[in-house]
Amino acid sequence: MTEVLVLVDHVDGQVAKTTFELLTLAARLGEPSAVFIGDGLDTAKPALAQYGAAKIYAVPGTDIDDYLVVPVAEVLAQLVESASPAAVLVSSSAHGKEIGARLAVKTGSGLITDAVDVRSEDGGVATTQSVFAGSYTVDAVVTQGTPIVTVKPNSCAPEQREGAGAVEEVTPQISEGAKSARIVERREKQKSGRPELTEAAIVVSGGRGTAGDFSAVENLADALGAAVGASRAAVDAGWYPHTSQVGQTGKQVSPQLYVACGISGAIQHRAGMQTSKTIIAINKDEEAPIFELVDFGVVGDLFAVLPQATDEIGTAKG
Ligand SMILES: Cc1cc2nc3c(=O)[nH]c(=O)nc-3n(C[C@H](O)[C@H](O)[C@H](O)COP(=O)(O)OP(=O)(O)OC[C@H]3O[C@@H](n4cnc5c(N)ncnc54)[C@H](O)[C@@H]3O)c2cc1C
Repeated sequence: MTEVLVLVDHVDGQVAKTTFELLTLAARLGEPSAVFIGDGLDTAKPALAQYGAAKIYAVPGTDIDDYLVVPVAEVLAQLVESASPAAVLVSSSAHGKEIGARLAVKTGSGLITDAVDVRSEDGGVATTQSVFAGSYTVDAVVTQGTPIVTVKPNSCAPEQREGAGAVEEVTPQISEGAKSARIVERREKQKSGRPELTEAAIVVSGGRGTAGDFSAVENLADALGAAVGASRAAVDAGWYPHTSQVGQTGKQVSPQLYVACGISGAIQHRAGMQTSKTIIAINKDEEAPIFELVDFGVVGDLFAVLPQATDEIGTAKG
């Protein structure tokens, strides 16, 4: 079976959930091969095998870890050359999209970014994207070279599927040009204890309707194990960090469940959350546009509704 390369996202071998999603999608196209760059392979290997990696290309981090994305694109280009994979899947972070774009140029291949579905069709690789603020769904195929696809987090549920996890050491040639921008310092982000916004299975977001008091939103998020998001109105008011903004000029999220609290549903907000699998809104205005796209809507005051929901969840959990 033809290989499908998956670039592993990890920190010291702790593999991100998005990689398990990519391995699951890769299995639809061929035999998943993980590309693991840097330290921590001993930690990562069992998890990668558990999610179906038949092969793991182990690449030392020397000449890669301290530089930006260019060396990673060179590593993948060399693997595309040697393994002739059916496709290369990368997660749709800003990083991942730049790697994908550079890889496409290096290999003369077609690139599809921000796919929300990837499948095998007519012997090729077909994808689905949600574009123009979610107003259109586009199906596309790569017609030249090796299909390179960046996939949005939460595009599928990760499925366990035992793979051999056979490690193959790779020593790529990194050009001097690839090392022209070096990372001089890394500072760890302050941890909120909540999941990462773009990767969370559940996101609870607050808007102007919170009037700056996010406690009810945070309590519900914590009861659900969710990440907290915010509308631009809320972050512009200084109520929540800009890094939490969901929307056209913020983060794009696609969780299993999105709960919009006191958010009107402006097109620019919808652009960042419209592909969520299930959408719930709590808004005291029954005419609010957010109700046009919800699966469940509650017309009511969020300060009355959210604590009740949080209590009920607490009771249900025992
Ligand atoms: C170029 C551009 C880019 C933009 N990018 C983004 C973006 O990335 N993300 C984004 O979010 N916006 C973005 N915006 C802004 C967007 O147009 C809206 O202004 C913004 O989303 C509104 O935020 P909101 O829904 O919180 O506030 P509002 O539109 O003011 O809505 C507040 C809602 O809360 C409800 N409410 C009030 N009190 C309560 C209560 N107690 N209980 C329940 N409901 C209550 C109200 O009925 C209302 O529907 C952008 C705009 C532009 C022009």
